[in-house]
Amino acid sequence: MTPAPALFIGHGSPMNTLERNGFTEAWRTIGRRLPRPRALLVVSAHWYFGATAVTAMARPRTIHDFYGFPQALFDFQYPAPGAPDVAAEVAEAVQPTWCGLDRDQWGLDHGAWSVLAHLYPQADVPVVQLSINALKPLAYHLELGAKLAALRARGILVVASGNVVHNLARIAWDRPDAAFDWAERFDDAAARQMAEAPGDAVRLAEHPDYAAAVPTPDHFIPLLYLAGMAAAEGAALQPLVRGYAMGSLSMTCYGLGTEPGLACTEADGAATLPAGVPADQTNV
Ligand code: ZN
Repeated sequence: MTPAPALFIGHGSPMNTLERNGFTEAWRTIGRRLPRPRALLVVSAHWYFGATAVTAMARPRTIHDFYGFPQALFDFQYPAPGAPDVAAEVAEAVQPTWCGLDRDQWGLDHGAWSVLAHLYPQADVPVVQLSINALKPLAYHLELGAKLAALRARGILVVASGNVVHNLARIAWDRPDAAFDWAERFDDAAARQMAEAPGDAVRLAEHPDYAAAVPTPDHFIPLLYLAGMAAAEGAALQPLVRGYAMGSLSMTCYGLGTEPGLACTEADGAATLPAGVPADQTNV
């Protein structure tokens, strides 16, 4: 069996679920060229709490974990089945790190379903989610990612979902497709790091623009999972999609083991945020 690819997707606004734009079209193109894996393991920025856990319920609920968006987004369902057996394999793969089996707490949050809605629109591939342990240092996540690399050979496709640059307090409505200089500098530095030495990705925290680009680590950490997987195999990561949204979000995506012909797409037109709610209170 060819090892399943692995992805990092910059998800941006959850309205990307319902809209069609340059990014969602790129995700759909990538999705059409992915194999049908045995299961998907999503590492989402939005399951960020004080433990390492994997969803292990047969029917994960669709979680609407945001504020101020149209009703249609709260009505969206992604009814993919869970995979308790895959959850057990994930917990085993990361040993001796402890990973709890969540049978009834979480489900699929918008970091997962806003991108899976385009990568696997039929919602017919089983999905489990891995939490991000908020109590651990960056190196922990890179090392956990390295342990997940073995799952590729077992037909489990890892989708890490976050944003390399994510600063909701500095959203600029007058820059729908552009970035602040500091955002672009950091995104470029991350691209160089992924291409040259993904195993040293925690060094990005020393970059002078890290504090502006990554005011909280939740959306950055998913990138470390893919970086760890690449490093475990001695591989480099190339961007699959590049672009920005609203000044302070980078929508850059990366792939590991994807088709060589899948060139980097420059995209634009990302979905925006609700106008009536302060951006940093949307939980995007
Ligand atoms: Zn998000």
